[in-house]
Amino acid sequence: MDQKDSIDLKILKAIFGIARSIGSELELEKVCDLIVEKVFKVINCNGCAIILVDEKGVKLQSEIGFGKSIREVEFRKEMPLVKYILSTKNKLFIGDIESSYFKYSVPRGEKTVSMICIPIIVKEEVKGIIYIDSKKTNAFSSRHEYFLNILAHEISIAIERALNYKQIKELSVIDELTGVFNRRKFDIDLRDALNEAIRYIKSLSLLMIDIDHFKRYNDLHGHQMGDIVLKKIGRVFIENKRLTDRIYRYGGEEFSIICSETNKENARIFAERLRQFVNQEKFKGEDKIKSGGNLTISIGVSNFPFDVTKTDHLIKYADDALYKAKAKGRNMVVV
Ligand code: GH3
Ligand code: MG
Ligand code: MG
Repeated sequence: MDQKDSIDLKILKAIFGIARSIGSELELEKVCDLIVEKVFKVINCNGCAIILVDEKGVKLQSEIGFGKSIREVEFRKEMPLVKYILSTKNKLFIGDIESSYFKYSVPRGEKTVSMICIPIIVKEEVKGIIYIDSKKTNAFSSRHEYFLNILAHEISIAIERALNYKQIKELSVIDELTGVFNRRKFDIDLRDALNEAIRYIKSLSLLMIDIDHFKRYNDLHGHQMGDIVLKKIGRVFIENKRLTDRIYRYGGEEFSIICSETNKENARIFAERLRQFVNQEKFKGEDKIKSGGNLTISIGVSNFPFDVTKTDHLIKYADDALYKAKAKGRNMVVV
């Protein structure tokens, strides 16, 4: 094997390694972080960055080797470098920026001497740019070009997958961990439920639920066991809800339930039942929270039109009631 072959082998190995590690990742942020990290390791450069492009504009997604300076750059589609890549969909290799048209449009100014820009093309559109630079003249060779050409294809596939996943997640209404509805769905549903309640003069109740001393549980048993508790509590709610109740994960360890056509007293009875069910449920290691104690929840209840007349007030009222339940000693329903 001559030297050329062995270099090619090295390049191929690097490409396979990168493709494998980005291939199993779906989160856009992580995919981009991985790419810059791996490319930075394989190519002898000073910095590697990924800039993403969408209909809203241009955004620096990941970088390595630039430090604060690149974070201060306000990327725009009109910047000569970005504009060139967007309009031509071509890559750009510059050995000496001094004599280049793009002299004044590189992220770290005069510190950049050589640079490479590769478009990330998804469905024939430029969705991003991989930017690599060096402080040396002619730092990048045809080998780098060869390597990056092959890699660009793998990267485009990974980014396309991550962009699709992001879109699906944004359309999703389910909280992945607990299986109940998510916060986005809550905001939409509460607004709709209140509009309906106002229009048809119906009663509407809201439950805000928070796990008691959950930080202590996490600190004692770890986040993973905390997650199991969250799942289990979600299931207790799902199993005991009535047909017209909708359950949401409002935040980290907070749930909310919208009870349509439910007056305040019935909401209180329902909340009290849920509190008791959680109190009776067995959770691993719950006795360690306080000696012999159970894992419990506190619930604040609000009602339209009994307590308030506006959606955001409904949340505020239930939140205040929840706060009172905490202040009074937890494991309690306050209306
Ligand atoms: P309080 O009775 O006053 O509600 O006490 P607390 O410790 O439950 O309240 P606080 O709001 O201070 O802490 C909430 C904790 O919930 C912080 C964090 O440890 C935990 N938490 C939040 N989200 C998650 C999550 O998604 N998973 C896990 N395991 N824990 C979470
Ligand atoms: Mg909380
Ligand atoms: Mg809590």
